[in-house]
Amino acid sequence: MRKIRTGDQVLITSGRNKGQQGTVRVNLIDRDRIVVEGVNIVKKHIKRGRARQAGIVEVEAAFHVSNARLICPNCTQPTRVGIRPDAEGKNERYCKKCEQTVPRPEA
Ligand SMILES: [Zn+2]
Repeated sequence: MRKIRTGDQVLITSGRNKGQQGTVRVNLIDRDRIVVEGVNIVKKHIKRGRARQAGIVEVEAAFHVSNARLICPNCTQPTRVGIRPDAEGKNERYCKKCEQTVPRPEA
């Protein structure tokens, strides 16, 4: 089970975007990377294509999940996430600070 999911609120804890917050938009699971809304903006040079103008666009770039920390929706603190079985034996995420279940984000 993934600790960070699409739709989660995260805080960036290192790198040049340290301290910024946002919602996870894309989760590249196989590469352990995430794209967060409004964070890690880079300029991309686009070649002219069939239905595209050439130019420079600003896009959100992916970065490694280890640079982000989940913001717990219960205690609103940046926290680490644990995995434990719930009452039905299914895995659930929980906040290591307040120990409450972290619900699946609506995304
Ligand atoms: Zn919490």
